[in-house]
This record gives sequence, structure tokens and C-alpha cells, in this order.
Amino acid sequence: MKMVKVAVVGAGVVGLSTAVCIAEALPFCCVTVMAERFSPDTTSDGAAGIVLPAQFPDIPLERQKQWFKNSFDHLLAIAQSQHSPEAGVMLSSGCQIFKEVPAEKKPFWSEFVIGFREMTDVELKRFPLHTFGQAFTTVKCECSSYLPWLQNRFSKAGGLIEQRIVSSLQDLSSSFDLIVNCSGLGAKSLVGDGEVYPVRGQVLKVDAPWLKHFIRDGDGKTYIYPGIHSVTIGGTRQEGDWRLEVDQGDTRGILERCCRLEPSLTKAKVLSEWVGLRPGRKNPRVEREVVQLQGRQLSVVHNYGHSGWGVTLAWGTALDALGLVRQCLHDLSLQAKL
Ligand SMILES: Cc1cc2nc3c(=O)[nH]c(=O)nc-3n(C[C@H](O)[C@H](O)[C@H](O)COP(=O)(O)OP(=O)(O)OC[C@H]3O[C@@H](n4cnc5c(N)ncnc54)[C@H](O)[C@@H]3O)c2cc1C
Repeated sequence: MKMVKVAVVGAGVVGLSTAVCIAEALPFCCVTVMAERFSPDTTSDGAAGIVLPAQFPDIPLERQKQWFKNSFDHLLAIAQSQHSPEAGVMLSSGCQIFKEVPAEKKPFWSEFVIGFREMTDVELKRFPLHTFGQAFTTVKCECSSYLPWLQNRFSKAGGLIEQRIVSSLQDLSSSFDLIVNCSGLGAKSLVGDGEVYPVRGQVLKVDAPWLKHFIRDGDGKTYIYPGIHSVTIGGTRQEGDWRLEVDQGDTRGILERCCRLEPSLTKAKVLSEWVGLRPGRKNPRVEREVVQLQGRQLSVVHNYGHSGWGVTLAWGTALDALGLVRQCLHDLSLQAKL
């Protein structure tokens, strides 16, 4: 049987998840991941990695639920297996606190995480500026371990790896039957998507092994996430800001805000500082299209624009993209019969 040649552009958490899903489910496909940057140099590598979604305005809620549930169940299974330390995936319990009671006290994802409940007044006393809180257990996924683990899983499924810049999808049209675009922020230039923009994020890693529970301010800007080797504290959310350098003003702001939430952090040593650009988009783009490249019609499946929730949603949208790849292959086989 003729192998179908599939190119996946992008080796962040979205690209590698998608590539693994395709390579494992469709053994008659020869899948190549090609990317300018691999771990440890992708945006995904530095993500704080807490698994917690937001709600996108124009995607049906049922689809978003499916994305989250599939991702959560996949990561939970890893966290509860012997692969957990190597894959960098662990259970994480803690709270999300709000200065004002949010419109939705029970968000759509509350049914999927473990043990979701409102915090009691006694628990909230620790946070005098906050009036409402949610306690639950989720998963933390440390991509600096998870990406090499996924890449290894991809290779075991027969996948190929190629380091290169793809300047245009046209470059791939003669060598591949199908392209899967997981280029994150790179989609802005690769497919000319004007809806994609950078959302700059700065985080610090600190040594505070006594902290075991995460604390996240509901505004999404201040968080403390204990991990396997250190505690990630953050952050910033600067839309349209392309700067990749560490900003000392941001560092001071992060330390100030986090120490206000957790005063013991004044005793923590800063281990590292990091900046990444989230692939901002009003809604992630998970869809297929047929493009005309060098006189040939080529199917492209897009899976990018996850903004600040790529680690959270990567596996769910990868399964969705796999479904779209199946549809493309079905159409291709029909065409071949005509
Ligand atoms: C500070 C910070 C904290 C975060 N915290 C969290 C969190 O707690 N939870 C969460 O869910 N998310 C979080 N995120 C968001 C998360 O990091 C992103 O949503 C996610 O990394 C996006 O993954 P991706 O694979 O789409 O993109 P990337 O990781 O950026 O990967 C893109 C890939 O495409 C390749 N590429 C792009 N263009 C081309 C081209 N033309 N040719 C070849 N290769 C190309 C790149 O080289 C790279 O391999 C955070 C982000 C930041 C910055």
C-alpha cells in the first residue's frame, strides 16, 4: 500500500501532540515533523504549564469541552502512571482566587477537574484582597520534559524529524500529500494570518520547595505554580509586544505581586527568568482547507492560535485535527477513484 506523506509544521506542544496522534492512529501515513525550533527552544518549553482553560468566544462550547476533557484525561493518565516523572506531568492541587465574584462561579471546566469546590471563608482569610475562590486539583505539564517525551513517542511510532524553516507551504507541496500547520505564532507569516498576534509572557523559576499548592489570581496575571524541580511564578500578558528580553521591571512586579499572595516567597532564591510569546488569537484555528499550490490542490489542516492555553488544549485539539486529517484522506481516496 502506498504511504501517505504528511508534513506537520511545528514542534511545540501542539505540533508534537498532533504528530503523535496521527502517527499512532494512521500507520499508513509517513509523518514528518519539521520545525525551525525544537525543545528546549520553543515557546511551549517555558510555559508555566498549568492545565486550565479559558472560554473562546466563537467556538461552540461543546467543542471546547471536548478539547479540554480529552486533554485533561490524557494528561491525568500520564500523571497517574510510571511515566509521570520522565514526562514531567504531575497532579497539582490549589486554588484560583478572585478580588470580585466572577460572573461564572462554576466554569464549564469544573466538571472535568478533580474535586472542584468553592473555597470557604476561613480559607479565603489568607487572601484579604480576595472575596471568592475555587479549590480543585488539575495537572501541571512541564514541557521541557514533556516535549522530549512526546518526540520520543513520535519516533517510536515511525515518525521523522527535520529541522528547517518553512517559508511557504508551497515549499512542501511537491513532497507531501497533506500538510498540518501547527506553527503557533509563526502562522502569522507562514499563512499570512493577520488575526495572530504575540502576547508576551515573563515568568521566574524560584527555589521554594516548601510550597506544594498552586495559587492563581483569577485575572490570570499573577500565579504561583509549584513544579517538579522548582516553583514557577508569573506573570505578564502584554499583547502585541514582541520583546524576548527579560524586563527587570516585570521581574520586580512579578516578585511583588507573588509575595503579596504568598509572603514566604520573599525567602525564595530566583533560579531563572524567561520570556515567551504566546500565539494570541481570538479563537484557535482548528480547521481544514484546500489550497491551490503550484497548480496542485493540497489539503491543509490548521491547528494553531491557542493563546495562553496551548499546553491545556494541545491533546484535545490534536485529536480534533486527527479527525480532520481522516476527512482529508477520505476525500483524497475518493479523488483517486474518480
Ligand atoms: C509565560 C507563559 C506562560 C504560559 N503558561 C501556560 C500555562 O500555564 N498553561 C497553558 O496551557 N499554556 C500556557 N502558555 C501558553 C503556551 O505556551 C502556548 O499556548 C503553547 O506553547 C503554544 O504551542 P504551539 O505548539 O502552538 O507553539 P510553539 O511552542 O511556539 O511552537 C511553534 C512551532 O512552530 C515552529 N514554526 C513556526 N513557524 C515556522 C516556520 N515557518 N517554519 C518552521 N517551523 C516553524 C516553531 O519553530 C515551533 O517549533 C504560556 C505561555 C507563556 C509565554
